[in-house]
Amino acid sequence: MGSRPYRRRLAWGAAALLAAGVAVPAAAAASDHGSPSDVGGHGPKKAKNVILLIGDGMGDSEITLARDYTVGAAGRLTMDKFPMTGTYTTYSVDKNGKPDYVTDSAASGTGWATGQKTVNGRISKTPGTDKPMTTILELAQKKGLATGSVTTAELTDATPAVLASHATDRSCAGPADMKACPNDTIAKGGPGSIAEQSVNHKVDVLLGGGKDRFDQKITEGPYRGLTVTQQAEKLGYQVVTDSEGLRTARSGKPVLGLFAPGNVPVEWTGKAAAVGGTAAQRCVTSNPERKAGTPALEEQTRRALSLLDTPKAKKNGFFLQVEGASIDKRDHAADPCGQIGETAALDRAVKVARDYAAKHPDTLVVTTADHGHTSQIVPLEATPPGLSSTLITNEGRQLKVNYSTNTPGKAQEHTGTQVRIAAQGPGSQRVLGVTDQTELFTTLRTALSLR
Ligand code: MG
Ligand code: ZN
Repeated sequence: MGSRPYRRRLAWGAAALLAAGVAVPAAAAASDHGSPSDVGGHGPKKAKNVILLIGDGMGDSEITLARDYTVGAAGRLTMDKFPMTGTYTTYSVDKNGKPDYVTDSAASGTGWATGQKTVNGRISKTPGTDKPMTTILELAQKKGLATGSVTTAELTDATPAVLASHATDRSCAGPADMKACPNDTIAKGGPGSIAEQSVNHKVDVLLGGGKDRFDQKITEGPYRGLTVTQQAEKLGYQVVTDSEGLRTARSGKPVLGLFAPGNVPVEWTGKAAAVGGTAAQRCVTSNPERKAGTPALEEQTRRALSLLDTPKAKKNGFFLQVEGASIDKRDHAADPCGQIGETAALDRAVKVARDYAAKHPDTLVVTTADHGHTSQIVPLEATPPGLSSTLITNEGRQLKVNYSTNTPGKAQEHTGTQVRIAAQGPGSQRVLGVTDQTELFTTLRTALSLR
C-alpha cells in the first residue's frame, strides 16, 4: 500500500513530461533531472529545506527569449530541466475579492507567501480590511528553520518584502517613505517600514540592493535617531556591502548585504527596443554601471546557502527565497539585452540550487515567476506598431522581439497570462497540472510540515 500512491504520482509525472512533448529517455531523465528521490519514490517524502527561485516577470516568452539567445532554440536552460513542470494562474483581487486579471509583484508575492490573494500594491495584508496575514517565512521561523532572502532588487522591493513584512502599500520601503501607509507607522502602533520590519524579523540572511533605504533615519520608536542599518547592527547583524564582505561574513550571526544604493545594476546592456525596430544587435555581456565587487546573483545564492549552514539549519532546515528581479524591470523598459542577461543570471542561480539539492535530496527546489510580462518573439517580417528590436543570437540567427503592451514612451506592462512553475524534490509533484499561485504556499508548507 505504502508505495502505491507514490507510483501513481510517478506515472502521472512521466505522462505529464510526455504530454508536454519532452522527449527524454527514462534513463537520461533520471540522471539529468536530479536524484532518484524526484522521480523514483525512494527519497525523502518530506523536505527539510526549501529553495524558492522567483524570476520577476519571467513568463514563457521571457524564458524562451533567454533560451533562444543563450543556448539556442534546441538548447535547454537549467530551469528547463526540472522533472516536475506545471503552470499557474496569477490574478490578484480588488478590495471586495473580485478578480483583477493582471497582478503586480506585491499581490502575487503575497499569494505564495500567505496562500491568500490581495489587492495590487499590498504586502502580505488582506485586500479589504488591510490586516496582516502570516507568511511562509514566519511559519518557518516559528518551527525553528533558518531563513534567507536574496534579490537583485532593493531588499525592500515587493518580492522580498512579502516574506518578512506587512504593509498597506509596497512604496513604504524605508522610514521616510511611509506616506501611503499611515496605519503602519510606529507612531500609530504599527510595525514601521518594510526595511525596519525585515531586520526586526531577524531573517538570518538578507542579500540584495537598497542601501539608501536602510540608510534612512528612523524618526519614531525605540530606534529613533538611528538608521535602519544601525538598527540592524544593534540587532546583531553583520552588514556587508561587497563581494569581499560577503565572503568574509561569518555564519551563525545574521547577515545584511546591501550591494547597491538602489537596485543592483544589471549584468548585460544593449540598445532598447525602438519604434520601427533596431539594427540587428549582439548584447554586451557587461555593464559599466556595475561596480567591481558587486556579487552576481549566483554568488549571492551560493554564499546564502553556506551562511545558512548553521547548527540551527542542520537540525531544523532552512527556507531560502532567491529573486531575479530585473527581468521585470528591463521588460518594463523594453530592454531585451538587460532582460535576457538577468534571466541568464537567474538560471545560473538555479544551477547553484540544483547542485545543492543533488547533495541534499531532502531539499525542495521550486522555480517560478510572479507574473507574465510584455516581451514577445515575433516573425522577422512583422512590423509591429510598438517597440521592437532584432537580436543576433549566440547560434548566429536573427530574432525579433516586440514590446507592445503600452504606448511607446510609457513603461511596458505586466500581462495576465499563466506562468510556469517547475520543481524537484520532496513534494514537487504538487506543481503539476494547472494550479493557482496561492497553492504554492500550501506546497511549501506541506513539504516543510509547517503549521
Ligand atoms: Mg520583484
Ligand atoms: Zn513589474
